[in-house]
Amino acid sequence: LYGDYDPKNIFAKILSGDIPCAKVYEDARILSFMDAFPQAKGHTLVIPKVSARNLFDIRCEDLQNLIAHTQKIGRAVRSVLEPDGIRIAQFNGEAAGQTVFHIHFHIIPAWDDA
Ligand code: 5GP
Repeated sequence: LYGDYDPKNIFAKILSGDIPCAKVYEDARILSFMDAFPQAKGHTLVIPKVSARNLFDIRCEDLQNLIAHTQKIGRAVRSVLEPDGIRIAQFNGEAAGQTVFHIHFHIIPAWDDA
């Protein structure tokens, strides 16, 4: 939860293009891509281009933009896959289950029978 931003984290390398990803959406401030180890079909991640470890480090205005895009991309996932529900998940700190220390929102589709 605490500490400095590590510029070598996996999502920083995805943002710089050093690690490839399956892009879903990109603009000047946001990148969205498929999770490489999906918890369900369509598991998508949304990250800001600013360097922030977690929800408590990011500027409020950047967080608002990130959440607005999570809604927008979540709507696109919903219309393409038509799941019965969608989990939006976001973890802060190793103790909470965060493994990549660049803030991100998970969009995880869910189905009644899965
Ligand atoms: P966290 O537990 O930090 O909230 O989630 C990190 C997510 O990043 C996990 O769902 C994990 O599957 C995903 N992930 C880890 N490494 C990579 C990678 O190299 N590429 C992509 N696309 N996703 C990754």
